[in-house]
Amino acid sequence: GPVTVKEFASKMGREVSEVIKKLMMLGVMATINQEVDMDTAVILAGEFGVTVQELPPEEDPTEIAEIIDDPADLVPRSPVVTVMGHVDHGKTSLLDAIRKTHVTTQEAGGITQHIGAYQVVNQGRKIVFLDTPGHEAFTAMRARGAQVTDIAILVVAADDGVMPQTIEAINHAKSAKVPIIVAVNKMDREGANPDRVKQQLSDHGLVPEDWGGDTIMVPVSAHKKTGITELLEMIGLIAEMQELKANPNRSAQGTIVEAQLDKGRGPVATVLIQNGTLQIGDSIIAGTAYGKVRAMVNDRGEKVKKAGPSTPVEVLGLADVPAAGDVLLAVDEKTARAVAEKRIAKKRTEEMAHSQKVSLDDLFKQIQEGNIKDLNIVVKADVQGSIEALRQALLNLNNNKEVRVNIVHAGVGAINESDVMLSSAANALIIGFNVRPDANARKLAETEKIDIRTYRVIYEAINDVEAAMTGMLAPEF
Ligand code: GDP
Repeated sequence: GPVTVKEFASKMGREVSEVIKKLMMLGVMATINQEVDMDTAVILAGEFGVTVQELPPEEDPTEIAEIIDDPADLVPRSPVVTVMGHVDHGKTSLLDAIRKTHVTTQEAGGITQHIGAYQVVNQGRKIVFLDTPGHEAFTAMRARGAQVTDIAILVVAADDGVMPQTIEAINHAKSAKVPIIVAVNKMDREGANPDRVKQQLSDHGLVPEDWGGDTIMVPVSAHKKTGITELLEMIGLIAEMQELKANPNRSAQGTIVEAQLDKGRGPVATVLIQNGTLQIGDSIIAGTAYGKVRAMVNDRGEKVKKAGPSTPVEVLGLADVPAAGDVLLAVDEKTARAVAEKRIAKKRTEEMAHSQKVSLDDLFKQIQEGNIKDLNIVVKADVQGSIEALRQALLNLNNNKEVRVNIVHAGVGAINESDVMLSSAANALIIGFNVRPDANARKLAETEKIDIRTYRVIYEAINDVEAAMTGMLAPEF
């Protein structure tokens, strides 16, 4: 990187004045603390009879270099599908129906194992389903940079239509650039109205094929098990167009789908292998956990020795429990251990930094220390009217203050995980008016160290924020 004139002089064992003189001769007017760029440094050093060389950029010790495959080594792989949609629209039922109609349980003595993902075969083609419905899992994985899903199935109940989480799911799939196939479920219900669903989805940019758009919509009933085969056919069709490929003849790379500590077996992780082949005895790393593959079990409960691309397997042998979304790599033992240790150290440092999130209690101190210029706030309330009132009152606090109130998000409803995640990313605190955090949000807020304040009187909320801004907040009991 660049050095200052002073540093350069000391490295050369010369006086600063000598260096400045030489620079002047080269036509560069420099002061003692000025930075010298690399090209100039090379010429300047030459003037002193020294050859300098730029070092290659330092490698991040917590990262493992990606293997780039030769296109000639790639072969087709099966699609990986995630089921998303509004609560109670039938995601779990649909996953069950698909599994029951297309997995022959006799193969494993009647036992299908829940490992977080399963494979079905339709017309000789395999499809992998992630068995953790809902976009929370999907988002959590994406937040870690893991893209495991090739196709999203959006389940919409034909009698209920498009609901808030349907829209959220659409937006998540769109932002991940994952194609959506709509399963219009509960077609057996009396109130089923698929045309209304089509109209509502069209309003959100998903126009059905029979209306001239390009979104495939399949009417299904998870209860009556109708439309399942058609749905699988459509998945196969989209997958074919995607030309999904991987190289089975290399060291494995995958993503942790689920992981937990099993009393008898130790850390157990379900991995979706995405590239390469994982084998018994491979040394592996996933997040901060490392180890050696001791045993693998597939979705039918069978022990396997290898797992290739687009195969979900339960892996035993990690020394620790990784997190869902962590990337698993097979690497040599020394690298696995060294990188894991570096990651653990980095995580600790980050956790310490984390504990310095904005909170009303130490807001004034942070303002005085100059750490905060914007006070970011997420506002949740029971009705739109309260949000507007709160927003106005909070923004009014902006007059003559060293810190600016900034509302990063405002919405009607309980404080949920998504609000906490946003607050964590934006370093915001959450103000709830006549609403409370749900259980998941509360848990996440604890680990993310997000300050959530709930009020029943707007004046009190404003008072607290103003008091915190001026260092007058009474301690909370
Ligand atoms: P999820 O929250 O999206 O996973 O929804 P579930 O699969 O738990 O289903 C919610 C409710 O809808 C349950 O009571 C199911 O029995 C019911 N359900 C799901 N699919 C169908 C269907 O095709 N027809 C009917 N009539 N009910 C369904």
